[in-house]
Amino acid sequence: MVAAGSNSAAIAAKIKSGDRAALARAITLIESKKPEHRSLAQALLGALMPATGKAIRVGITGVPGVGKSTTIDALGSALIAEGHRVAVLAVDPSSVRSGGSILGDKIRMPRLAADDRAYVRPSPAAGTLGGVTTRTRESLLLCEAAGYDVVLVETVGTGQSEVAVAQMTDVFVALMLPGAGDELQGIKKGLLELADVVAVNKADDDRARANTAAASLKAALSILGTGGHAVPPVLTYSALTGAGVPQLWQAIVAHRDRLAASGGLAEKRRSQEAAAGR
Ligand code: GDP
Repeated sequence: MVAAGSNSAAIAAKIKSGDRAALARAITLIESKKPEHRSLAQALLGALMPATGKAIRVGITGVPGVGKSTTIDALGSALIAEGHRVAVLAVDPSSVRSGGSILGDKIRMPRLAADDRAYVRPSPAAGTLGGVTTRTRESLLLCEAAGYDVVLVETVGTGQSEVAVAQMTDVFVALMLPGAGDELQGIKKGLLELADVVAVNKADDDRARANTAAASLKAALSILGTGGHAVPPVLTYSALTGAGVPQLWQAIVAHRDRLAASGGLAEKRRSQEAAAGR
């Protein structure tokens, strides 16, 4: 924990210089509920604000077992190989994971967790959704200030946390299982209205099933409409083999670029800042 008397400007400088331990301590500070930590966290965020805003912020959701951690490991490793620095945060208000879960994330994302160019942070301890999402958004800002140019925010498929993650990111990706009526589940939850990119995973052993799921998702999107925003592309890929992972990233970047060109990105970030009071 950062000593109460520490100067926030000095900590901010360490974070900006890429000191991972300082970043980890600062996120712990942000997650703390103690009032004295809160005021230092606020001062730190204030000092770091000018260094934020430069990353591409990507939300990733899907039901347990869809392959979120495998996807993040594959995508994150590919991005690192291209010279990116990747931070991974999780929003899971139901999680009882805490410090000890670092081991869990090492197992879930073995390549990323072992790489110095990545920073994998487990979910904050369980709390109210609002509390968890505020802390995750602030942690995201710290990661940006620390020089991570890609921030992946993972959430399990529950309606409310998906809305929160869609709001705090530039591009929201819904991962889907091939077949099994998963497409209908997504429609029920309003997930497809939030999604900027829809991606059917596990297109390897049984590509035909993945293609069928993609076709029904495309049909559902055209029937349902998307509440005014652009119809998201529907892709198939395999996190396990890596096939289609570059195309998934291209679709993410294309959406971010469109949003930036239309002025929507600046507007989205302004409204997030206003909602968060910073
Ligand atoms: P999460 O719960 O959404 O994080 O899902 P995981 O990443 O833990 O993956 C759940 C299971 O699906 C694991 O057994 C993975 O090995 C498997 N899996 C993930 N991606 C793929 C894939 O592209 N193809 C296949 N065949 N299995 C996959």
